[in-house]
Amino acid sequence: MAQVIYLNGEYVTKENATVSVYDHGFLYGDGIFEGIRIYDGNIFKCKEHLLRLYDSAKSIMLNIPLSMQEMQDTLIETIRRNELRDGYIRLVVSRGPGDLGLDPRRSPKANVIIIVEKLSIYPEEAYRNGLSTVSVSTRRNVPDALNPKIKSLNYLNNILVKIQANLAGVGEAIMLNSQGYVAEGSADNIFLVKNGVVFTPPAYIGALEGITRAAVMELCAKTGLTLKEEPFTLHDVYVADEVFFTGTAAEIIAVREVDGRVIGEGKAGPITTALLQEFRKIVTVDGVKVFE
Ligand code: PMP
Repeated sequence: MAQVIYLNGEYVTKENATVSVYDHGFLYGDGIFEGIRIYDGNIFKCKEHLLRLYDSAKSIMLNIPLSMQEMQDTLIETIRRNELRDGYIRLVVSRGPGDLGLDPRRSPKANVIIIVEKLSIYPEEAYRNGLSTVSVSTRRNVPDALNPKIKSLNYLNNILVKIQANLAGVGEAIMLNSQGYVAEGSADNIFLVKNGVVFTPPAYIGALEGITRAAVMELCAKTGLTLKEEPFTLHDVYVADEVFFTGTAAEIIAVREVDGRVIGEGKAGPITTALLQEFRKIVTVDGVKVFE
């Protein structure tokens, strides 16, 4: 089964999936995207991802040339054509081709791209052993410059963090905001557990409102765990009983060490493990079915 990519109403091969070098997504990072998972033919939290995409579009005044329902139908059709029951969906809407100036009014036609692929994630033992991570000097974009709630194609802030993570030899790193509060990872939200209470930074600190983050918050409520959206510092992370990252690709992954400090028992703790178990129960049912 050859991979097909949706590109502006057509299904094309990988080789033919090309856009103009005048696309402002390419020239300026002007556009938005979503990363979505499909688990056993279920587009997990499909509606939530589409709502975030259309909110991001509204915020940057980008006109998506498909209704939300049409976008959902197109996602389903793309997955069907690829016969993929488990994988990752990258949905991109860029401003489209314009001239060399910044002005988005000169890019009247957005490019809509859907790529579905298999996903290589952390090995299963990483979920038990936890990741080693570090904090980095790069600060999160301030919300009054480029709001981290917008899932824009401008990921340089995150890429600078990833470069620091690479240099430190770790897969994910912790980014603070400009006041020194913990914001998030390069591409994941962050949680900690202290004395049985689960904490995550409020989105106003400067974080993406992750779909996995929201799912974990729901699971806390469902399983009777107290969840607090509260600013916290690196000190709180160092002395936490458990720390974990959440993201569409990473799911819920424990952290065993931060900046050389061992977290809790130095492996996935009981609450992280329980939340991951509960999460894996909902991924195949909470969403939109592709193959019925
Ligand atoms: N923060 C950032 C910066 C991200 O790019 C992502 C997406 N990988 C997340 C958090 C996690 O969000 P989600 O759970 O919606 O994937």
